[in-house]
Amino acid sequence: MIAGNWKMNKTPSETVALLKELKAINPGKVEMVVCPMTVSLFAAAPLLKGTEVHLGAQNVHFEDKGAFTGEANAASLKELGVEYVILGHSERRQYFGETDETVNKKTLHCLKNGLKPIVCVGESLSEKQRGITNEVVCLQTKAALSGVSGAQISDVVIAYEPIWAIGTGMTATAQDANATISAIRRAIREVYGDAAEQVRILYGGSMNEKNASELMRQPEIDGGLIGGARLVASKFEQVIHY
Ligand code: PEP
Repeated sequence: MIAGNWKMNKTPSETVALLKELKAINPGKVEMVVCPMTVSLFAAAPLLKGTEVHLGAQNVHFEDKGAFTGEANAASLKELGVEYVILGHSERRQYFGETDETVNKKTLHCLKNGLKPIVCVGESLSEKQRGITNEVVCLQTKAALSGVSGAQISDVVIAYEPIWAIGTGMTATAQDANATISAIRRAIREVYGDAAEQVRILYGGSMNEKNASELMRQPEIDGGLIGGARLVASKFEQVIHY
């Protein structure tokens, strides 16, 4: 899977223009996912129906409905044709008070409503320097998955995104990314056994058309979550064709 996180970019009309370009890409065996802003999903969905481009959102609330001003629920995303939802991105954890607890609630809410969560986990620079990367990401993973059943686990995607690598141009080495993702898979295996092999674990953090092929060669890395390289169709295409 190669998923593009568009963050707070592209108005609905700009979304349509970019998707027209992206639709022309032949993804081959790669599952291609695009995650525009919530307000642009309405414009994106009809354009992607029946194509090989899958639609994702960048957030969802964890309640079915009610007095939660400014939020969107999973049933509405599902009705629009959304398939995936990015959860717990470090920008949401940093700026919008997302916690392991809310990420867990949102994960369960997505699965209950037939949406597939892309759960982001990752260590800060100081946690990396203190040598506690695996502890941090495994804890985040287990917290996010609390209450997820064995039948649901294969619908979950994890994105390992070291915070210090997001939008900085600094990428984890392919070997380090592979080792951390391997630790995450072991943590999933402790709870879900062999089903851990069905969970796709992506790498994200300054992944681009230049380093994608080395990262994707690693046995544990099942895909990429792409920020910076997602808004230019030709660059995204090069990542898809890593
Ligand atoms: C992201 O925001 O999920 C991300 C990976 O960003 P970038 O590729 O720009 O580091």
